[in-house]
Amino acid sequence: MINFIYKFKKFMYNRYGSDELSKALFYLYILLVLVNLFVRFNIIFYIELILMIIILLRYFSKNISKREKENIIFLKSKTFILKPFKNIIRNLKDKNNVYKKCHKCKTILKLPLPSKIGFKIVKCPECNYRNKFLVLRKQKIKIIRKKKGND
Ligand SMILES: [Zn+2]
Repeated sequence: MINFIYKFKKFMYNRYGSDELSKALFYLYILLVLVNLFVRFNIIFYIELILMIIILLRYFSKNISKREKENIIFLKSKTFILKPFKNIIRNLKDKNNVYKKCHKCKTILKLPLPSKIGFKIVKCPECNYRNKFLVLRKQKIKIIRKKKGND
């Protein structure tokens, strides 16, 4: 066993290994495998196969600078692609606040959840523009201590 580990380490020496791009490709692979459990399309199977080959080829690649460049391109395009969804992601993560973009200066504003669902007038602290936002979430009333019995 130790001999095998040693051989593997020797084999992996000067090879690229994993990075964000391979992780993303791997998640995509898992997603496709799960999807294909239900739909069973041959085409998805071939995409899975190609993805796995790319992941392995990148992992064992000796051309480290080229793999790093690919990863940098991936990271840059990821930030660019995710930018329009950033507010949606923020809103999904934060249960106590709502994030809105000022209509005039495009500043992102963090607002506490209102007590009622509906339109809210919010003055932007940056440009003083009075924004009208539709807020579809409201504060939840939390129970701190339940009343016991009737006393
Ligand atoms: Zn503003």
